[in-house]
Amino acid sequence: MLRLEKLTKTYPTGDMALQAVDLEIPAGQIVALIGPSGAGKSTLIRCINRLVEPSSGAAWLDDVNLTRLSQAALRRQRRRMGMIFQEYALVERLTVMENVLSGRLGYVGFWRSFTRRFPQKDVDEAYRLLDRVGLLDMADKRADELSGGQRQRVGICRALIQDPALLLVDEPTASLDPKTSRQIMRLIVELCAERGLAAIINIHDVALAQMFVNRVIGLQKGRVVFDGPPDALTAEV
Ligand code: ADP
Ligand code: ADP
Repeated sequence: MLRLEKLTKTYPTGDMALQAVDLEIPAGQIVALIGPSGAGKSTLIRCINRLVEPSSGAAWLDDVNLTRLSQAALRRQRRRMGMIFQEYALVERLTVMENVLSGRLGYVGFWRSFTRRFPQKDVDEAYRLLDRVGLLDMADKRADELSGGQRQRVGICRALIQDPALLLVDEPTASLDPKTSRQIMRLIVELCAERGLAAIINIHDVALAQMFVNRVIGLQKGRVVFDGPPDALTAEV
């Protein structure tokens, strides 16, 4: 469902963040992307939904070449890719419910979300998701009243309400304590399995990756240096 072909990114600074990365992820598969800081994990995720423009190579989502799209077509494809961020990226002055519903608007409408009225089916789905992640009674709280773990649960709901085929998850637990990190990882993995979603989870905590996924991809200096089950990981990766 996702195929990267020689995906390459060189930043204007000369940093070769990705060097001809080839990768295939079948539908429904959850993959952890590990590697030291600066390895290119975040760049890889962002080249897929083009928050970062790749320098060359291609990223295919099913039969669509994501690297060759008009802005309008790119917006449509981004709806198929939910993103979860390290720092949650919630709108602080909006409520939990409004933040979740903003996921229905995609990237462009994000800041307009609080002036929009949403169809009842979206509201119902938002309540269902909040219930699933244990935040039903927080729906009307402002985002800035939440703990880090609660914020990330909202971030998860906002990504899922897009009804994506693929989740791009960028260091979801880097700002959380170990216990909350495990809860958030479990939630992401369970929800992907329930919905048949593929996911790429960028995570520098190898132990956490080992706990929750069957396939680990190791990046170093912009290249894939490992691809396999977590128990085959060697100390060098
Ligand atoms: P990781 O997510 O594994 O920590 P990144 O993708 O953030 O790695 O970074 C990969 C490399 O690209 C690093 O050398 C980093 O300094 C560089 N880099 C990342 N973002 C930018 C940017 N906006 N401009 C220039 N260089 C960048
Ligand atoms: P960074 O890693 O650069 O500090 P973030 O991970 O918070 O920043 O966000 C990366 C980019 O994605 C930013 O340009 C931000 O405006 C955008 N962004 C953040 N959250 C959302 C969202 N929910 N919907 C659309 N775009 C977002």
